[in-house]
Amino acid sequence: MAATPERERRDPAGGPEEHPEITYIGCARCGTLIAGLDGRYACSGCGWVNEWTEGHRPLPTARVT
Ligand SMILES: [Zn+2]
Repeated sequence: MAATPERERRDPAGGPEEHPEITYIGCARCGTLIAGLDGRYACSGCGWVNEWTEGHRPLPTARVT
């Protein structure tokens, strides 16, 4: 009885992919139009960042193996 090598098999389709959405907003502090991903913004002009909870979806979590 030969031992079968354990391989990590992945579905070729990989399941539904999640693409971050690029959105734009005017900075709440200086008014500069800034781009963000999934509703999260960081202004390069004044350093303003919005609450991460305002994002459109939860932050990706690190996978623990
Ligand atoms: Zn700003």
